[in-house]
Amino acid sequence: MRVFPASIPLDGRTVIVVGSGPMAEPKARLFARSPARLLWFTGADSGPVASDIAQYAEILRRMPTRRDLRGAALLFIAGSDDIPVEALARTGRRLGIPVNIVDSPAASDFQTPAIVDRDGIVVSIASGGAAPVLSVDIRAAIEQLLPARIGTLSDLARDLRGTVKSVLTKFEDRRAFWEKALRGQARDLALSGDKSGARREMLRQLNGETSPREGIVHLVGAGPGDPDLLTIKAARLLREADVIVHDRLVSQGVMDLARRDAHRIDVGKTKGHHPVPQQEIGEILVREAAKGQRVVRIKGGDPFIFGRGGEEMDVVRAAGIRVEITPGITAAMACAASAGVPLTHRDHAQSVTFASGVVKQDGPDADYRALSAANSTSVFYMGVGAAPQIQRKLIEAGRDAATPLALIENGTHDNERRVFGTLGELADLVTRHAITGPTIIIVGESVAIAAAHATTTDTQTLLEQSA
Ligand code: SAH
Repeated sequence: MRVFPASIPLDGRTVIVVGSGPMAEPKARLFARSPARLLWFTGADSGPVASDIAQYAEILRRMPTRRDLRGAALLFIAGSDDIPVEALARTGRRLGIPVNIVDSPAASDFQTPAIVDRDGIVVSIASGGAAPVLSVDIRAAIEQLLPARIGTLSDLARDLRGTVKSVLTKFEDRRAFWEKALRGQARDLALSGDKSGARREMLRQLNGETSPREGIVHLVGAGPGDPDLLTIKAARLLREADVIVHDRLVSQGVMDLARRDAHRIDVGKTKGHHPVPQQEIGEILVREAAKGQRVVRIKGGDPFIFGRGGEEMDVVRAAGIRVEITPGITAAMACAASAGVPLTHRDHAQSVTFASGVVKQDGPDADYRALSAANSTSVFYMGVGAAPQIQRKLIEAGRDAATPLALIENGTHDNERRVFGTLGELADLVTRHAITGPTIIIVGESVAIAAAHATTTDTQTLLEQSA
């Protein structure tokens, strides 16, 4: 260990930053939201101070005096020509204050680590000033690992520490208590934002009201396929799941993020294989959660957009089991982004509608009059099989056959294909390009913007079209 990352309590302390500009500002920002009193001596000629810091700091447009420095916990000096760095550092040190001279590790008493800040929990990554960029990258990785509300959990633990100590006098009992409290039900409640529920659960546990671990079903959006488009929360839930119920639209790259020993249940609908009926999926979710398992039901895109998430949520709730929804990037948004189609545009599209190309047997169809309104974008899911009907119904409802259209097949996957054309060509494009994979159809004037900037592969498609 070449450096030792000591932690300094900030409650009731003062931190001083001297200097202005890009060297000083990040240091001030670091303490702006801390309980420390932040004094920022910017000097007389400094420009305006960033508003997020100005709210919390005392800004002084001069140099600090010896009196100002007295009693401070830390002193940061960002050097520039008009700042007496040496003199200030000397005064600070005489007063027993650890000094950091920004960007001069050798001249400093301590270095600033890269920090992951979750309030009660702070992770510091130190490289002894050798490789700050490396530290920043490690920090980014840890940011993704730590739940945003882990600080809430540690706050609770801090609040209850004394009580727990007085009730459980033996060290082993206390350890067993904390292991359960910080990994079980109370943790789930705290991380989902229910701090008082978490507190109640911890107290119940302390009173010896041991309840078996309650199961939970998370309906989680996996996004369109590219694992980079998964939310940070979805990635965490996958890592923590005991059971993962998935289907065909969830890519391998996403599934690779799951715990290796998690039990996986494939309810996928592949051609030639009978899909697990919806009712049975509901039964699986309830059965697994009833055993006290953390169940993740992961679905392509977003669970509430043509994902039957509403039905699954109802079934799980009806069984008296907790259910939580984590949204995902839906195919329409991912495909539009990938193809460069703005779904709304101040000049061309004042609204956007997501519609299904297939409808439930004897169920109501989408409102094609609304889908045909000028200045609107219509996005069709599950539209490939019904392409001729979509084309006919839109045109009959009044949409111009010359309206620009894009088909995006396997959006965000390595084999993504984009085909541009017009509404009048829709059915023909599907056949001509043998489009069979999951595909989004976008109809609307703003598609022209993407078509105009089509890349080489897309252009080939365009050329083929006109040939
Ligand atoms: N819940 C999903 C939609 C499921 S319905 C979501 O929010 O995205 C299945 C339809 O979604 C497919 O028929 C196709 O129209 C669309 N789809 C899903 N993934 C896709 C992808 N990667 N590229 C293009 N379309 C996709």
